[in-house]
Amino acid sequence: MIDLHVHSTFSDGCLSPGELVAAASAAGLTALALTDHDTIAGAGDFLAACRAAGLTGIAGVEISAQAEPGTLHILGLGVDPASEVLGDALERIRRSRDERNRRILERLQELGFALTWEEVESIAGGDVIGRPHFARAMIARGWAESVPEVFERYLEKGAPAYVDRFKLSPHEAVRLIREAGGVAAVAHPLSWTDDFGELEGRLRELAAAGLNALECHHPMFDASASATLLALAGRLGFLPTGGSDFHSADAEGRAGVPGGLGVPPVPDALLPPLLARMSPYGFVTGKEA
Ligand code: AMP
Ligand code: FE
Ligand code: FE
Ligand code: ZN
Repeated sequence: MIDLHVHSTFSDGCLSPGELVAAASAAGLTALALTDHDTIAGAGDFLAACRAAGLTGIAGVEISAQAEPGTLHILGLGVDPASEVLGDALERIRRSRDERNRRILERLQELGFALTWEEVESIAGGDVIGRPHFARAMIARGWAESVPEVFERYLEKGAPAYVDRFKLSPHEAVRLIREAGGVAAVAHPLSWTDDFGELEGRLRELAAAGLNALECHHPMFDASASATLLALAGRLGFLPTGGSDFHSADAEGRAGVPGGLGVPPVPDALLPPLLARMSPYGFVTGKEA
């Protein structure tokens, strides 16, 4: 089995790239893609660890795009980690994220939580600081019990400490990923819309920008949703992908979504057509050790 959607300490995951590779090997996975939010800085460590472990490793990224309505997450799988155009765009995104983070902190302080920037930074410890780090800092202070609780009360859109930030359009994100040599997939498409007819229309529009894959296996989907997405991918000529969206071993994930590396199981058969479309610098096959 394979897992093509995981997060590390370089963004809001709790395991380092090396720890993820060790956990994936222990779980018997044959391929893993690192898809941190807005950064490819973990790719070097990650590909080296995969090579050493004899695992197929894919350098990826997950970019949040501004879709109307809502936010759309787009996965880039097998991007060239040295791509300048991708590096520059991600840097701009991280700068706006940093500004947003300062404002989230101010909002939380205005709400009476005497949180400091140093606390949030030390909990994050990586390249990209995200809302889950604020949530973990609030929990560490004893102000909340769970990450989903902090999102619901303070951090999600519409809540008092929510602050917007600059995002690429879906077209821009897809083009960027393709330019960097990656396969571009819509992540957890049912969180964009759960109306399959509507989804198909939106995906057809993004195909024009170069969208060429669809995440069909994800812990949010039951078997029937996955089957419908696989059929949709087939109709649109998109390659199916899938993964666990793993962030941490504890139950801090989105409410109601069971976690675990390699869950749900994603068949190895999805991998070869994906590898064939990726930058040769975007993956190691694990046979080079
Ligand atoms: P950010 O990229 O900083 O805006 O934070 C978004 C990240 O927070 C997502 O990638 C998820 O990892 C996490 N997240 C979003 N919504 C929730 C939620 N309701 N409960 C727990 N985690 C969430
Ligand atoms: Fe995340
Ligand atoms: Fe996502
Ligand atoms: Zn993700």
